[in-house]
Amino acid sequence: MEIFNSMTRRKEEFVPIEPGKVRMYACGPTVYNLIHVGNARPIILFDVLRRYLEYRGYEVTFVQNFTDVDDKIIRRANEEGTTSQAVAEKYIAEYFHDATALGVRPATIHPKATETMDEIIDLVQTLVDKGYAYSVPSGDVYYRTLKFKSYGKLSHQPIEDLQSGARIDVNDEKENPLDFALWKAAKPGEPSWDSPWGKGRPGWHIECSAMNRKYLGPTIDIHCGGEDLQFPHHENEIAQSEAANGVPFVHYWMHNGFLNIDNKKMSKSLGNFFTVRDAAAAYGYEPIRLFMLSAHYRTPLNYSAESLQQAQAALERLYTARDNLRFLAANGAEGEMTAAEREVLDAADRFRERFDAAMDDDFNTADAVSVLFEVVRAVNKATAPEQAPTRAGAQALLGLMGEFTDVLGLLYDKSEESLDEKVEAMITKRQEARKAKNWAEADRIRDELKAMGIVLMDTKQGVQWKKE
Ligand code: AMP
Ligand code: ZN
Repeated sequence: MEIFNSMTRRKEEFVPIEPGKVRMYACGPTVYNLIHVGNARPIILFDVLRRYLEYRGYEVTFVQNFTDVDDKIIRRANEEGTTSQAVAEKYIAEYFHDATALGVRPATIHPKATETMDEIIDLVQTLVDKGYAYSVPSGDVYYRTLKFKSYGKLSHQPIEDLQSGARIDVNDEKENPLDFALWKAAKPGEPSWDSPWGKGRPGWHIECSAMNRKYLGPTIDIHCGGEDLQFPHHENEIAQSEAANGVPFVHYWMHNGFLNIDNKKMSKSLGNFFTVRDAAAAYGYEPIRLFMLSAHYRTPLNYSAESLQQAQAALERLYTARDNLRFLAANGAEGEMTAAEREVLDAADRFRERFDAAMDDDFNTADAVSVLFEVVRAVNKATAPEQAPTRAGAQALLGLMGEFTDVLGLLYDKSEESLDEKVEAMITKRQEARKAKNWAEADRIRDELKAMGIVLMDTKQGVQWKKE
Protein backbone atom coordinates (compact mmCIF):
# COMPACT_ATOMS: atom_id res chain seq x y z
CA MET A 1 0.00 0.00 0.00
CA GLU A 2 1.44 3.33 -1.05
CA ILE A 3 0.68 6.74 0.38
CA PHE A 4 1.75 10.06 -1.06
CA ASN A 5 3.66 11.68 1.77
CA SER A 6 3.36 15.48 1.63
CA MET A 7 6.66 15.75 3.51
CA THR A 8 8.75 13.88 0.93
CA ARG A 9 6.37 14.67 -1.94
CA ARG A 10 6.39 11.14 -3.25
CA LYS A 11 4.49 7.91 -2.84
CA GLU A 12 5.95 5.67 -0.17
CA GLU A 13 5.21 2.12 0.89
CA PHE A 14 3.10 2.21 4.03
CA VAL A 15 4.86 0.51 6.95
CA PRO A 16 3.23 1.04 10.34
CA ILE A 17 5.32 1.69 13.44
CA GLU A 18 3.79 -1.30 15.18
CA PRO A 19 2.83 -4.24 12.95
CA GLY A 20 -0.94 -4.51 12.51
CA LYS A 21 -1.67 -1.16 14.14
CA VAL A 22 -2.17 2.34 12.82
CA ARG A 23 -2.16 5.53 14.82
CA MET A 24 -3.73 8.35 12.89
CA TYR A 25 -4.69 11.93 13.69
CA ALA A 26 -6.84 14.43 11.82
CA CYS A 27 -7.16 18.08 12.79
CA GLY A 28 -10.81 18.62 13.60
CA PRO A 29 -13.12 21.60 13.43
CA THR A 30 -13.21 24.76 15.48
CA VAL A 31 -16.72 24.52 16.80
CA TYR A 32 -18.41 27.86 16.33
CA ASN A 33 -20.74 27.26 13.37
CA LEU A 34 -22.09 24.59 11.04
CA ILE A 35 -19.54 22.82 8.85
CA HIS A 36 -19.57 23.66 5.15
CA VAL A 37 -19.17 21.29 2.23
CA GLY A 38 -15.42 22.09 2.01
CA ASN A 39 -14.94 20.98 5.61
CA ALA A 40 -16.82 17.79 4.80
CA ARG A 41 -14.19 16.76 2.25
CA PRO A 42 -11.45 15.77 4.74
CA ILE A 43 -14.03 14.40 7.16
CA ILE A 44 -15.42 11.99 4.57
CA LEU A 45 -12.10 11.09 2.96
CA PHE A 46 -10.29 10.30 6.17
CA ASP A 47 -13.25 8.26 7.36
CA VAL A 48 -12.83 6.13 4.24
CA LEU A 49 -9.06 5.92 4.79
CA ARG A 50 -9.71 4.58 8.26
CA ARG A 51 -12.33 2.10 7.01
CA TYR A 52 -9.95 0.87 4.33
CA LEU A 53 -7.11 0.38 6.82
CA GLU A 54 -9.49 -1.64 8.99
CA TYR A 55 -10.63 -3.67 6.00
CA ARG A 56 -6.95 -4.46 5.36
CA GLY A 57 -6.78 -5.84 8.88
CA TYR A 58 -5.18 -2.98 10.80
CA GLU A 59 -6.32 -2.00 14.22
CA VAL A 60 -6.74 1.75 13.84
CA THR A 61 -6.67 4.32 16.61
CA PHE A 62 -8.08 7.45 15.08
CA VAL A 63 -7.99 10.73 16.97
CA GLN A 64 -9.81 13.85 15.80
CA ASN A 65 -9.93 16.88 18.04
CA PHE A 66 -12.46 19.60 18.67
CA THR A 67 -10.98 23.08 19.08
CA ASP A 68 -13.40 24.30 21.72
CA VAL A 69 -11.58 27.43 22.89
CA ASP A 70 -10.67 30.03 20.30
CA ASP A 71 -11.18 33.68 19.32
CA LYS A 72 -14.02 32.85 16.95
CA ILE A 73 -15.89 30.86 19.57
CA ILE A 74 -15.47 33.65 22.11
CA ARG A 75 -16.68 36.24 19.61
CA ARG A 76 -19.69 34.13 18.78
CA ALA A 77 -20.51 33.66 22.49
CA ASN A 78 -20.36 37.42 23.04
CA GLU A 79 -22.62 38.05 20.05
CA GLU A 80 -25.15 35.56 21.34
CA GLY A 81 -24.85 36.57 24.98
CA THR A 82 -23.81 33.11 26.04
CA THR A 83 -20.63 31.29 27.13
CA SER A 84 -18.02 29.91 24.78
CA GLN A 85 -18.61 26.53 26.38
CA ALA A 86 -22.28 26.66 25.37
CA VAL A 87 -21.33 27.65 21.82
CA ALA A 88 -18.81 24.80 21.60
CA GLU A 89 -21.25 22.23 22.97
CA LYS A 90 -23.93 23.31 20.56
CA TYR A 91 -21.68 23.03 17.51
CA ILE A 92 -20.12 19.75 18.61
CA ALA A 93 -23.64 18.32 18.63
CA GLU A 94 -24.28 19.88 15.21
CA TYR A 95 -21.01 18.38 13.95
CA PHE A 96 -22.06 14.90 15.02
CA HIS A 97 -25.47 15.40 13.44
CA ASP A 98 -23.92 16.19 10.05
CA ALA A 99 -21.06 13.69 10.30
CA THR A 100 -23.43 10.85 11.19
CA ALA A 101 -25.77 11.79 8.37
CA LEU A 102 -22.77 11.75 6.00
CA GLY A 103 -22.04 8.19 7.11
CA VAL A 104 -18.91 9.22 9.02
CA ARG A 105 -18.12 7.02 12.00
CA PRO A 106 -17.04 8.73 15.21
CA ALA A 107 -13.27 8.70 15.70
CA THR A 108 -11.83 6.41 18.36
CA ILE A 109 -11.26 9.49 20.50
CA HIS A 110 -12.54 13.06 20.06
CA PRO A 111 -10.49 15.06 22.55
CA LYS A 112 -11.35 18.66 23.35
CA ALA A 113 -8.80 21.37 24.01
CA THR A 114 -10.52 22.34 27.26
CA GLU A 115 -10.20 18.76 28.50
CA THR A 116 -6.51 18.48 27.59
CA MET A 117 -5.35 21.54 29.52
CA ASP A 118 -2.90 19.76 31.88
CA GLU A 119 -1.11 18.09 28.97
CA ILE A 120 -1.03 21.34 26.99
CA ILE A 121 0.53 23.24 29.91
CA ASP A 122 3.01 20.40 30.46
CA LEU A 123 4.08 20.53 26.85
CA VAL A 124 4.55 24.31 26.89
CA GLN A 125 6.61 23.94 30.08
CA THR A 126 8.81 21.30 28.42
CA LEU A 127 9.43 23.66 25.51
CA VAL A 128 10.30 26.51 27.87
CA ASP A 129 12.66 24.23 29.83
CA LYS A 130 14.41 23.15 26.64
CA GLY A 131 14.85 26.70 25.45
CA TYR A 132 12.37 26.37 22.56
CA ALA A 133 9.88 28.74 24.11
CA TYR A 134 9.87 31.92 26.21
CA SER A 135 7.35 33.86 28.20
CA VAL A 136 6.96 37.63 27.96
CA PRO A 137 5.80 40.12 30.61
CA SER A 138 2.20 40.17 29.37
CA GLY A 139 1.91 36.45 30.21
CA ASP A 140 2.05 35.14 26.64
CA VAL A 141 4.40 32.28 25.77
CA TYR A 142 5.95 32.06 22.31
CA TYR A 143 7.75 29.38 20.33
CA ARG A 144 11.31 30.34 19.35
CA THR A 145 10.94 29.36 15.72
CA LEU A 146 14.51 29.96 14.54
CA LYS A 147 15.82 27.54 17.14
CA PHE A 148 14.06 24.67 15.38
CA LYS A 149 16.54 24.12 12.57
CA SER A 150 14.29 22.24 10.17
CA TYR A 151 11.37 24.68 10.38
CA GLY A 152 9.67 24.81 6.98
CA LYS A 153 10.50 21.22 6.00
CA LEU A 154 6.90 20.13 5.45
CA SER A 155 5.84 23.07 3.31
CA HIS A 156 9.31 23.16 1.68
CA GLN A 157 9.90 26.81 2.45
CA PRO A 158 13.41 27.99 3.23
CA ILE A 159 13.53 29.85 6.51
CA GLU A 160 14.91 32.97 4.75
CA ASP A 161 11.80 33.15 2.56
CA LEU A 162 9.57 32.81 5.58
CA GLN A 163 11.48 35.51 7.40
CA SER A 164 11.29 38.00 4.58
CA GLY A 165 7.58 37.30 4.20
CA ALA A 166 6.70 37.58 7.88
CA ARG A 167 4.60 40.48 9.04
CA ILE A 168 6.35 42.74 11.50
CA ASP A 169 4.22 44.06 14.29
CA VAL A 170 5.58 47.20 16.00
CA ASN A 171 4.21 46.47 19.45
CA ASP A 172 5.32 42.92 19.31
CA GLU A 173 6.76 41.30 22.39
CA LYS A 174 8.06 38.50 20.21
CA GLU A 175 11.79 38.01 19.69
CA ASN A 176 11.19 37.27 16.03
CA PRO A 177 8.19 37.79 13.73
CA LEU A 178 8.14 34.04 12.96
CA ASP A 179 7.58 33.12 16.61
CA PHE A 180 4.05 31.94 17.32
CA ALA A 181 1.90 31.82 20.46
CA LEU A 182 1.78 28.68 22.57
CA TRP A 183 -0.08 30.32 25.40
CA LYS A 184 -2.11 33.54 25.42
CA ALA A 185 -2.53 35.64 28.56
CA ALA A 186 -6.17 36.03 29.62
CA LYS A 187 -8.08 39.08 28.52
CA PRO A 188 -11.07 40.30 30.53
CA GLY A 189 -14.22 38.29 29.91
CA GLU A 190 -12.41 35.39 28.25
CA PRO A 191 -12.29 31.82 29.50
CA SER A 192 -8.93 31.13 31.13
CA TRP A 193 -6.95 28.50 32.97
CA ASP A 194 -4.23 28.76 35.63
CA SER A 195 -0.72 28.19 34.39
CA PRO A 196 2.89 28.86 35.44
CA TRP A 197 2.63 32.05 33.32
CA GLY A 198 -0.59 33.27 34.93
CA LYS A 199 -4.15 32.87 33.71
CA GLY A 200 -4.53 32.26 30.02
CA ARG A 201 -5.53 29.88 27.26
CA PRO A 202 -3.65 27.78 24.72
CA GLY A 203 -2.80 28.75 21.15
CA TRP A 204 -4.32 26.57 18.44
CA HIS A 205 -1.21 24.69 17.29
CA ILE A 206 -0.12 23.40 20.70
CA GLU A 207 -3.43 21.64 21.23
CA CYS A 208 -2.80 19.13 18.43
CA SER A 209 0.75 18.40 19.61
CA ALA A 210 -0.49 17.77 23.16
CA MET A 211 -3.32 15.51 22.01
CA ASN A 212 -1.07 13.53 19.72
CA ARG A 213 1.38 12.94 22.55
CA LYS A 214 -1.35 12.07 25.04
CA TYR A 215 -3.37 9.64 22.93
CA LEU A 216 -0.99 8.35 20.26
CA GLY A 217 2.53 8.82 21.62
CA PRO A 218 5.51 10.87 20.41
CA THR A 219 5.57 9.36 16.90
CA ILE A 220 2.43 8.56 14.91
CA ASP A 221 1.79 6.84 11.58
CA ILE A 222 -0.52 9.18 9.69
CA HIS A 223 -1.44 12.81 10.22
CA CYS A 224 -4.04 14.31 7.94
CA GLY A 225 -5.90 17.48 7.14
CA GLY A 226 -6.69 19.89 4.34
CA GLU A 227 -3.74 21.27 2.36
CA ASP A 228 -4.26 24.73 3.83
CA LEU A 229 -3.15 23.31 7.17
CA GLN A 230 0.36 22.46 5.94
CA PHE A 231 1.52 25.93 6.75
CA PRO A 232 1.65 27.21 9.37
CA HIS A 233 -0.41 24.77 11.42
CA HIS A 234 1.30 21.47 10.67
CA GLU A 235 4.71 23.10 10.41
CA ASN A 236 4.15 24.41 13.93
CA GLU A 237 2.91 21.06 15.20
CA ILE A 238 6.15 19.49 13.94
CA ALA A 239 8.30 22.19 15.56
CA GLN A 240 6.51 21.77 18.91
CA SER A 241 6.34 17.98 18.98
CA GLU A 242 9.83 17.25 17.69
CA ALA A 243 11.50 19.83 19.92
CA ALA A 244 9.67 18.50 22.99
CA ASN A 245 9.86 14.77 22.30
CA GLY A 246 13.19 14.56 20.48
CA VAL A 247 11.91 12.05 17.90
CA PRO A 248 10.24 12.34 14.48
CA PHE A 249 6.59 13.31 14.88
CA VAL A 250 4.80 11.81 11.87
CA HIS A 251 5.70 9.10 9.35
CA TYR A 252 3.12 9.96 6.66
CA TRP A 253 1.54 13.35 6.10
CA MET A 254 -1.65 13.31 4.02
CA HIS A 255 -3.35 16.46 2.76
CA ASN A 256 -6.55 16.69 0.78
CA GLY A 257 -7.02 19.17 -2.04
CA PHE A 258 -9.62 21.90 -1.92
CA LEU A 259 -13.24 21.68 -2.64
CA ASN A 260 -13.76 24.63 -4.96
CA ILE A 261 -16.68 26.60 -6.18
CA ASP A 262 -16.14 28.40 -9.49
CA ASN A 263 -12.49 27.41 -9.15
CA LYS A 264 -12.07 29.19 -5.82
CA LYS A 265 -11.63 27.44 -2.49
CA MET A 266 -14.92 27.18 -0.68
CA SER A 267 -14.33 29.05 2.56
CA LYS A 268 -16.00 30.98 5.28
CA SER A 269 -13.87 34.04 4.71
CA LEU A 270 -14.74 34.28 1.00
CA GLY A 271 -18.40 33.74 1.82
CA ASN A 272 -18.76 31.32 -1.12
CA PHE A 273 -19.80 28.36 0.98
CA PHE A 274 -22.79 26.09 1.40
CA THR A 275 -23.28 24.46 4.76
CA VAL A 276 -23.55 20.69 4.66
CA ARG A 277 -27.01 21.20 6.14
CA ASP A 278 -28.18 23.30 3.18
CA ALA A 279 -26.52 21.13 0.55
CA ALA A 280 -28.10 18.06 2.13
CA ALA A 281 -31.53 19.70 2.07
CA ALA A 282 -31.13 20.12 -1.68
CA TYR A 283 -29.45 16.84 -2.62
CA GLY A 284 -29.41 14.56 0.43
CA TYR A 285 -26.43 13.71 2.60
CA GLU A 286 -25.29 10.52 0.95
CA PRO A 287 -24.89 12.03 -2.54
CA ILE A 288 -22.41 14.49 -0.95
CA ARG A 289 -20.40 11.52 0.28
CA LEU A 290 -20.39 9.78 -3.09
CA PHE A 291 -19.47 13.07 -4.79
CA MET A 292 -16.40 13.43 -2.55
CA LEU A 293 -15.27 9.87 -3.25
CA SER A 294 -15.59 10.26 -6.99
CA ALA A 295 -12.37 12.29 -7.18
CA HIS A 296 -8.87 11.54 -5.96
CA TYR A 297 -8.34 13.19 -2.58
CA ARG A 298 -5.37 15.30 -3.68
CA THR A 299 -7.00 16.86 -6.74
CA PRO A 300 -9.17 19.95 -6.56
CA LEU A 301 -12.87 19.14 -6.79
CA ASN A 302 -15.48 21.53 -8.06
CA TYR A 303 -18.83 21.82 -6.32
CA SER A 304 -21.77 22.31 -8.67
CA ALA A 305 -25.45 21.46 -8.84
CA GLU A 306 -24.68 19.26 -11.81
CA SER A 307 -22.10 17.14 -10.06
CA LEU A 308 -24.33 16.69 -7.03
CA GLN A 309 -27.21 15.64 -9.28
CA GLN A 310 -24.94 13.14 -10.98
CA ALA A 311 -23.99 11.73 -7.59
CA GLN A 312 -27.68 11.49 -6.70
CA ALA A 313 -28.43 9.53 -9.86
CA ALA A 314 -25.43 7.25 -9.37
CA LEU A 315 -26.43 6.55 -5.80
CA GLU A 316 -29.94 5.77 -6.97
CA ARG A 317 -28.48 3.07 -9.21
CA LEU A 318 -26.69 1.54 -6.25
CA TYR A 319 -29.83 1.50 -4.12
CA THR A 320 -31.92 0.07 -6.93
CA ALA A 321 -29.44 -2.76 -7.40
CA ARG A 322 -29.35 -3.49 -3.70
CA ASP A 323 -33.12 -3.34 -3.26
CA ASN A 324 -33.53 -5.66 -6.22
CA LEU A 325 -31.08 -8.13 -4.67
CA ARG A 326 -32.88 -7.92 -1.35
CA PHE A 327 -36.16 -8.64 -3.05
CA LEU A 328 -34.68 -11.60 -4.91
CA ALA A 329 -32.99 -12.94 -1.78
CA ALA A 330 -36.50 -13.36 -0.36
CA ASN A 331 -38.53 -14.04 -3.50
CA GLY A 332 -36.14 -15.45 -6.11
CA ALA A 333 -36.18 -18.99 -7.45
CA GLU A 334 -35.25 -21.74 -5.02
CA GLY A 335 -32.40 -24.10 -5.64
CA GLU A 336 -28.94 -23.77 -7.09
CA MET A 337 -27.54 -20.53 -8.42
CA THR A 338 -27.74 -19.83 -12.11
CA ALA A 339 -24.67 -19.93 -14.34
CA ALA A 340 -24.93 -16.14 -14.75
CA GLU A 341 -24.86 -15.58 -10.99
CA ARG A 342 -21.96 -17.97 -10.54
CA GLU A 343 -20.02 -16.18 -13.24
CA VAL A 344 -20.14 -12.88 -11.32
CA LEU A 345 -19.11 -14.59 -8.10
CA ASP A 346 -16.26 -16.35 -9.87
CA ALA A 347 -15.02 -12.91 -10.90
CA ALA A 348 -15.23 -11.65 -7.30
CA ASP A 349 -11.51 -11.97 -6.67
CA ARG A 350 -10.71 -9.98 -9.76
CA PHE A 351 -13.05 -7.20 -8.60
CA ARG A 352 -11.50 -7.31 -5.13
CA GLU A 353 -7.99 -7.16 -6.54
CA ARG A 354 -8.79 -4.13 -8.65
CA PHE A 355 -10.60 -2.39 -5.82
CA ASP A 356 -7.69 -2.99 -3.45
CA ALA A 357 -5.15 -1.98 -6.10
CA ALA A 358 -6.95 1.34 -6.55
CA MET A 359 -7.07 2.02 -2.83
CA ASP A 360 -3.48 0.81 -2.34
CA ASP A 361 -2.36 3.33 -4.93
CA ASP A 362 -2.46 6.35 -2.66
CA PHE A 363 -6.06 5.73 -1.77
CA ASN A 364 -7.63 6.25 -5.18
CA THR A 365 -11.31 6.28 -4.23
CA ALA A 366 -12.29 7.46 -7.72
CA ASP A 367 -11.08 4.20 -9.27
CA ALA A 368 -12.46 2.17 -6.37
CA VAL A 369 -15.90 3.69 -6.97
CA SER A 370 -15.63 2.74 -10.66
CA VAL A 371 -14.96 -0.87 -9.67
CA LEU A 372 -18.05 -0.81 -7.47
CA PHE A 373 -20.16 0.34 -10.41
CA GLU A 374 -18.73 -2.41 -12.58
CA VAL A 375 -19.79 -4.90 -9.95
CA VAL A 376 -23.27 -3.38 -9.98
CA ARG A 377 -23.53 -3.63 -13.75
CA ALA A 378 -22.48 -7.28 -13.65
CA VAL A 379 -24.95 -7.99 -10.85
CA ASN A 380 -27.82 -6.31 -12.70
CA LYS A 381 -27.09 -8.30 -15.82
CA ALA A 382 -26.89 -11.59 -13.97
CA THR A 383 -30.13 -11.01 -12.08
CA ALA A 384 -32.31 -9.69 -14.90
CA PRO A 385 -35.77 -11.34 -14.85
CA GLU A 386 -35.09 -13.44 -17.96
CA GLN A 387 -32.18 -15.07 -16.11
CA ALA A 388 -34.60 -16.51 -13.53
CA PRO A 389 -32.44 -15.25 -10.62
CA THR A 390 -32.23 -17.35 -7.48
CA ARG A 391 -32.38 -16.63 -3.77
CA ALA A 392 -28.99 -18.23 -3.24
CA GLY A 393 -27.41 -16.15 -5.99
CA ALA A 394 -28.97 -12.90 -4.78
CA GLN A 395 -27.77 -13.52 -1.23
CA ALA A 396 -24.21 -14.14 -2.34
CA LEU A 397 -24.21 -11.10 -4.63
CA LEU A 398 -25.56 -8.91 -1.85
CA GLY A 399 -22.58 -9.97 0.22
CA LEU A 400 -20.17 -9.14 -2.58
CA MET A 401 -21.63 -5.68 -3.17
CA GLY A 402 -21.64 -5.05 0.57
CA GLU A 403 -17.89 -5.68 0.82
CA PHE A 404 -17.20 -2.64 -1.36
CA THR A 405 -19.99 -0.38 -0.13
CA ASP A 406 -18.94 -0.97 3.48
CA VAL A 407 -15.36 0.16 2.86
CA LEU A 408 -16.61 3.27 1.06
CA GLY A 409 -19.28 3.78 3.70
CA LEU A 410 -22.09 3.86 1.13
CA LEU A 411 -25.65 2.51 1.20
CA TYR A 412 -25.92 3.30 4.87
CA ASP A 413 -29.49 4.51 4.62
CA LYS A 414 -31.13 1.39 5.98
CA SER A 415 -34.50 3.02 6.52
CA GLU A 416 -36.97 1.74 4.02
CA GLU A 417 -39.92 4.05 3.72
CA SER A 418 -42.86 1.95 4.82
CA LEU A 419 -45.50 1.11 2.28
CA ASP A 420 -48.09 2.94 4.39
CA GLU A 421 -46.14 6.18 4.32
CA LYS A 422 -45.48 5.92 0.62
CA VAL A 423 -49.10 5.19 -0.26
CA GLU A 424 -50.44 7.93 2.01
CA ALA A 425 -48.06 10.43 0.42
CA MET A 426 -49.20 9.43 -3.07
CA ILE A 427 -52.85 9.68 -2.12
CA THR A 428 -52.31 13.18 -0.76
CA LYS A 429 -50.62 14.15 -4.01
CA ARG A 430 -53.54 12.72 -5.99
CA GLN A 431 -56.04 14.71 -3.90
CA GLU A 432 -54.07 17.87 -4.55
CA ALA A 433 -54.05 17.13 -8.27
CA ARG A 434 -57.81 16.64 -8.25
CA LYS A 435 -58.36 19.86 -6.34
CA ALA A 436 -56.31 21.62 -9.00
CA LYS A 437 -58.43 19.88 -11.65
CA ASN A 438 -55.30 18.24 -12.96
CA TRP A 439 -57.14 15.05 -13.96
CA ALA A 440 -54.30 13.62 -15.98
CA GLU A 441 -51.95 13.76 -12.98
CA ALA A 442 -54.61 12.32 -10.68
CA ASP A 443 -55.16 9.41 -13.08
CA ARG A 444 -51.44 8.86 -13.42
CA ILE A 445 -51.08 8.51 -9.66
CA ARG A 446 -54.07 6.16 -9.49
CA ASP A 447 -52.47 3.98 -12.18
CA GLU A 448 -49.15 4.00 -10.40
CA LEU A 449 -50.85 2.88 -7.22
CA LYS A 450 -52.71 0.20 -9.15
CA ALA A 451 -49.41 -1.10 -10.48
CA MET A 452 -48.27 -1.39 -6.87
CA GLY A 453 -51.36 -3.51 -6.13
CA ILE A 454 -53.15 -0.74 -4.26
CA VAL A 455 -56.85 -0.13 -4.83
CA LEU A 456 -58.42 3.21 -3.91
CA MET A 457 -61.92 3.58 -2.59
CA ASP A 458 -63.52 6.99 -2.48
CA THR A 459 -65.70 6.99 0.64
CA LYS A 460 -67.55 9.61 2.65
CA GLN A 461 -64.69 9.56 5.14
CA GLY A 462 -62.23 10.33 2.38
CA VAL A 463 -60.01 8.12 0.29
CA GLN A 464 -59.32 4.67 1.70
CA TRP A 465 -57.02 2.04 0.28
CA LYS A 466 -56.39 -1.64 0.44
CA LYS A 467 -53.98 -4.15 -1.04
CA GLU A 468 -55.43 -6.16 -3.87
P1 AMP B 1 -11.42 25.44 8.90
O1 AMP B 1 -12.86 25.53 9.22
O2 AMP B 1 -10.97 26.40 7.85
O3 AMP B 1 -10.55 25.43 10.14
O4 AMP B 1 -11.20 24.00 8.24
C1 AMP B 1 -11.44 22.78 8.87
C2 AMP B 1 -10.91 21.66 8.00
O5 AMP B 1 -11.54 21.70 6.72
C3 AMP B 1 -9.42 21.73 7.71
O6 AMP B 1 -8.89 20.41 7.62
C4 AMP B 1 -9.36 22.42 6.38
O7 AMP B 1 -8.18 22.11 5.68
C5 AMP B 1 -10.57 21.82 5.69
N1 AMP B 1 -11.11 22.69 4.64
C6 AMP B 1 -11.61 23.94 4.77
N2 AMP B 1 -12.05 24.42 3.60
C7 AMP B 1 -11.83 23.43 2.68
C8 AMP B 1 -12.08 23.31 1.28
N3 AMP B 1 -12.67 24.28 0.57
N4 AMP B 1 -11.74 22.16 0.67
C9 AMP B 1 -11.17 21.16 1.37
N5 AMP B 1 -10.91 21.20 2.68
C10 AMP B 1 -11.24 22.33 3.35
ZN1 ZN C 1 -3.82 20.12 14.08
